[in-house]
Amino acid sequence: MTTVAPSPTRTEVPTTMRAAVVTTTGEPLTISEVPVPTPGPHEALVRVITSGVCHTDLHAARGDWPVAPKDQIIPGHEGYGEVVAIGDRVTTLEVGQKVGNAWLWSACGVCEYCRTGWETLCPEQQNGGYSVDGSFGEYMLVDERYAARIPDGADPVEVAPILCAGVTVYKGLKMTGVRPGQWVVVSGIGGLGHIAVQYARAMGMRVVAVDVDDSKLALARTHGAEVTVNAATHEPGEAVQAATGGAHGVLVTAVHPKAFDQALGVVRRGATIVFNGLPPGTFDADIFDIVLRAITIRGSIVGTRQDLADALDFYARGEIHPTVHVETLEDVNDVFERMERGKIDGRIVMQF
Ligand code: NAD
Ligand code: ZN
Ligand code: ZN
Repeated sequence: MTTVAPSPTRTEVPTTMRAAVVTTTGEPLTISEVPVPTPGPHEALVRVITSGVCHTDLHAARGDWPVAPKDQIIPGHEGYGEVVAIGDRVTTLEVGQKVGNAWLWSACGVCEYCRTGWETLCPEQQNGGYSVDGSFGEYMLVDERYAARIPDGADPVEVAPILCAGVTVYKGLKMTGVRPGQWVVVSGIGGLGHIAVQYARAMGMRVVAVDVDDSKLALARTHGAEVTVNAATHEPGEAVQAATGGAHGVLVTAVHPKAFDQALGVVRRGATIVFNGLPPGTFDADIFDIVLRAITIRGSIVGTRQDLADALDFYARGEIHPTVHVETLEDVNDVFERMERGKIDGRIVMQF
């Protein structure tokens, strides 16, 4: 006889939850008891099971960027969990389904950007863990139109970093235009970069990894980088030119502006340099050099819903295995401190 477990209902959800809150930018996060949010139209309430910690969450907590997060923000945009309640007019999610939030939490759906495949540029977009509360709490809201659909069989810890780091570098690598068999430099082998090495390999690219820490470079090698350069001890331009004749493209995920200057030195003529990293600051570039070598420099911000579905599909097919370490919500300030010092190998994922 088959017994069917009753679907959880809204009444089984507590009224308050533990969450890490940015009370004052630049100060440690507070672990507080806050109200569990109520899903509005097209929204679902999700019990968070895991959440990756992205360097963007640290920028948010430190107030690094010109656009400030909302007050009392709960960061987190690599949250994976289970739908426990749905709001009005929800037609595409059901209780029990596994979903993720994302940086692109929602967009207007009707502007020129949304209509032309550039929803990541929508001026009306909401950002998970920045303009709306994110996944550093026991429950979070998602918009059914933008929430990630998690493939069956996904590991709750491994899949979390795909939701931001994975989609961001997958999209960024596509934007480099590097073709199978050509060289790409991944600069910065942190949460984003170590996953970028894997996507690049899965996309047929040859990979040079650049970081300022030898343990990050060792990690890059385990994920398939053929050449590694420690930018703290070697000039990356010379080393990469010697090893490859100049890369066809670069993906910069590093958190220091110096890496952005150095990207110009590692490429061959006609290359495309894509910036994913977002350290506050500016970089120096020589105009004559960019023009005469016809270099393209472009920014790239996360990815569309389709990019995210594609990035998750690479994961589901076993092509991508983020290096993950499990921590709890209570460790969040310690995680940020280690992240600031560049002492995390791969990605930290908090398990609830
Ligand atoms: P992380 O802290 O995990 O990794 C950063 C890496 O940069 C570390 O390995 C560090 O050793 C390396 N690094 C520091 N200085 C360097 C230098 N001079 N040269 C080379 N490498 C250097 O951070 P993360 O979570 O991977 O995020 C990286 C950046 O990307 C952050 O600024 C984050 O906000 C940004 N980000 C952007 C997007 C986007 O859509 N564009 C999405 C997610 C994150
Ligand atoms: Zn992120
Ligand atoms: Zn729009």
